[in-house]
Amino acid sequence: MRSLFQTRLVNGTNGDPALYVDFQFRRRALLFDLGDIMNLAPRHVLRVTDIFVSHAHMDHFIGFDRVLRLMLGRARRLRLYGPPGFLDRVAHRVLGYTWNLVENYAVELSIEAAELHADGRVEWAAFRSRDRFARTEMDAVPAPGGVLLDEEDFRVRAVQLDHSIPCLGFALEEKVHLNVWKSRLDELGLPTGPWLSELKRLARQHAPDDTPMTIAWSDHGGKHSRVHPLGTLRRAILREVPGQTIAYVVDVAFHERNRQAIIRLAHGADLLYVEAPFLNEASQRAAATAHLTTGQAGRLAREAAVKRVVPFHFSPRHAGAEDRLEAQVQEAFAASPG
Ligand SMILES: [Zn+2]
Repeated sequence: MRSLFQTRLVNGTNGDPALYVDFQFRRRALLFDLGDIMNLAPRHVLRVTDIFVSHAHMDHFIGFDRVLRLMLGRARRLRLYGPPGFLDRVAHRVLGYTWNLVENYAVELSIEAAELHADGRVEWAAFRSRDRFARTEMDAVPAPGGVLLDEEDFRVRAVQLDHSIPCLGFALEEKVHLNVWKSRLDELGLPTGPWLSELKRLARQHAPDDTPMTIAWSDHGGKHSRVHPLGTLRRAILREVPGQTIAYVVDVAFHERNRQAIIRLAHGADLLYVEAPFLNEASQRAAATAHLTTGQAGRLAREAAVKRVVPFHFSPRHAGAEDRLEAQVQEAFAASPG
């Protein structure tokens, strides 16, 4: 299946959490968590439009300076999302520097930050270079179903989890893929062209079947124009393929409330990125720090019926034991329930 995006852990399984999601052919990317991102080339950082931060512990947010430095002086709009208290964290980060010249830049860097509350309310604030990054409150908006970002072909959903502090888990959901049957197009004597994008857009919006679509083109035989109802074209030409879902869960205590919320968030996902910092033998340490063990991570993946699980955020205390961490997760993932 051709997917809209490709994902990679910037620091592999051991370093700070940062999942880079690259959109193919679009020069655009998302980040889930913002740990150290020195491994990310400037051109890759500059593609990022939206950053989803699970919580503001240092290893999840220290990369903010690199993003800010690379984007400074460019006309950019960057959006950041985090848990309650996140707007204060962003405000403190940007005010850690002196900005007496920044308002003279010809173009504006605008950082918009959001914090998702447990009741589904999202508070927003803007930090703009022309205002020396002073905080400007924006209108709060509701996020039904925890949806933080909803675009034509994908959405990002968040849920508040418990890590002794609020910590967000995320699901990136590609919407239905609409493929064009080229042979059907030929049979109908219709050309390819921009009208196909319009057809897909209307189909995604569930526009009425009798919506007229005008298809105009020119060739050696002169200019042509035809009108067909949307429903006819959709059934004849488009094929729906389910999109890919990727879930991302880090820094969570293992208890019933988190378990239920994670299973709902990740249910049926194609891929689950999940923290597995501690071996099963270190379960006391995991519980004391509100983290998962390998066995708990694998069990959550199994109970959420995901297709594949990628454990990461391994603790430095298990350096050199990566194979065992991975094996324990996969063993619990494959285990039969009981
Ligand atoms: Zn943490």
